Amino acid sequence: MNKKYDLIAIGGGSGGIATVNKASQWGAKCALVEASTLGGTCVNVGCVPKKITWLASEQALLLKEASAFGFPPAATTMNWQSFVSHRQAYIKKLHQAYEKKLLSNQVTLIQGLARFCGPHQLQVGNDIIEAPHIVISTGGKPTLPPLPGAHLAIDSDGFFALQSLPKRVAVLGAGYIAVELAGMLNALGCDTTLAFRHEKVLRKFDVLLSDRLIQAYTQQGIVLKAHHVPKRLDKMPDNSLSITFENDQILTGFDCVIFAVGRHPNSEQLNLISAGLVPEKNGTIGVDAFQNTRVSGIYAIGDVTGRKELTPVAIKAGRLLAARLFGNQPQSKLNYDNIPSVVFSHPPIGTVGLTEQEAKDRYGDDLRIYQTQFTPMSQSFFAHPQKTSMKLITVASTDKVIGCHLIGDGADEMLQGFALAITMGATKADFDSVVAIHPTSAEELVTLT
Ligand SMILES: Cc1cc2nc3c(=O)[nH]c(=O)nc-3n(C[C@H](O)[C@H](O)[C@H](O)COP(=O)(O)OP(=O)(O)OC[C@H]3O[C@@H](n4cnc5c(N)ncnc54)[C@H](O)[C@@H]3O)c2cc1C
Repeated sequence: MNKKYDLIAIGGGSGGIATVNKASQWGAKCALVEASTLGGTCVNVGCVPKKITWLASEQALLLKEASAFGFPPAATTMNWQSFVSHRQAYIKKLHQAYEKKLLSNQVTLIQGLARFCGPHQLQVGNDIIEAPHIVISTGGKPTLPPLPGAHLAIDSDGFFALQSLPKRVAVLGAGYIAVELAGMLNALGCDTTLAFRHEKVLRKFDVLLSDRLIQAYTQQGIVLKAHHVPKRLDKMPDNSLSITFENDQILTGFDCVIFAVGRHPNSEQLNLISAGLVPEKNGTIGVDAFQNTRVSGIYAIGDVTGRKELTPVAIKAGRLLAARLFGNQPQSKLNYDNIPSVVFSHPPIGTVGLTEQEAKDRYGDDLRIYQTQFTPMSQSFFAHPQKTSMKLITVASTDKVIGCHLIGDGADEMLQGFALAITMGATKADFDSVVAIHPTSAEELVTLT
């Protein structure tokens, strides 16, 4: 007999786990189907191992500069294997914590690949399971471009599987994952090249951030290659890799090439047709503001929807959906405006709200922009200080703050509180009314003139 649940989530990543845990707390009988490792992208090959690696790379930079504070020169070469085993041990603890939480919420965890065999039925292995509510939370995976020799390169998943730290690496891409990988590898001592298609990296971000990051990375010794679109990869007789670009430039001598050129949704194995669903052309699953797909009782959340591909977005969308379905909150839905995010580059970036270009498109000349650049105290002791830049975008006629863009030490931790203020509709006068905290970098944001 088919096993029946109130709700089934397909995909045990950030979104799926959050949905079933919340729904079960509202009394729903839930199952979670996971084809691979519990925790999904974020825990296994995304935010978590990335942030741990970023922390290691920040540590390397601090060690290099420690003599500025009177410490004797410290070792700056790392034991990669030891680092990776600590990182994996941390991730293992997260797996255990997730399993424990699912168990305490009485969620049934089913290991296997789920395929629709009807709008409310799924096949997992030889079993058929069914529920009136099915949430697709299958996430995505990195895209490797179809180029000759592309198999010689790795993607971000491969980066987290590296058994040794490369000596000479090329990162191909311009998005946040590309700049994070390049920054971390360079800080850890790899000779790093970052090649990208257009003039700038982070083109969807405010221009201040992409310009400043390019300056910072140039200063840090990363070789930046704008207008470089890879055409093919070759293995040379000495086993090194060479990249030929469409502009006929050839870069050689890499022991590792990493593609970070985008991700695509995990939708092709779901047999969506049996559910009466057709994915969008790019494979994403279209949803309305309430995460409803076109088929009643089937919902999609997280990266598979192609909307703001961030862990807290998947989590919040899932929890709010659970509250709507089982918590008697019929209007519960995620507001996708003003979602803050951080890029773990060197230095880090924090951003929320509209970019200057988006603000101009929406408000024309009715804008007032405040901007500052300074050397934070922490950096002023170093041989090569990294500047901090900040931009606040306000609507001139209402004084409302509609964008906040930061790059510099501490920007990652600084942003959350300002995002709260902006979400609450803060004006520039509200920012000015706050007493500054001295001496910090954050105080500059409440003293902008
Ligand atoms: C390198 C990298 C760094 C990142 N850094 C950050 C960061 O710093 N901050 C941040 O907020 N976000 C970050 N992200 C993005 C974040 O990881 C994703 O937005 C988030 O994991 C999406 O959650 P999800 O639930 O939609 O999907 P996922 O976490 O990808 O989970 C989907 C799960 O579904 C499973 N699955 C797929 N198909 C099936 C099927 N048919 N049956 C059963 N199971 C299936 C998969 O195995 C997977 O476990 C990063 C991503 C990457 C790649």
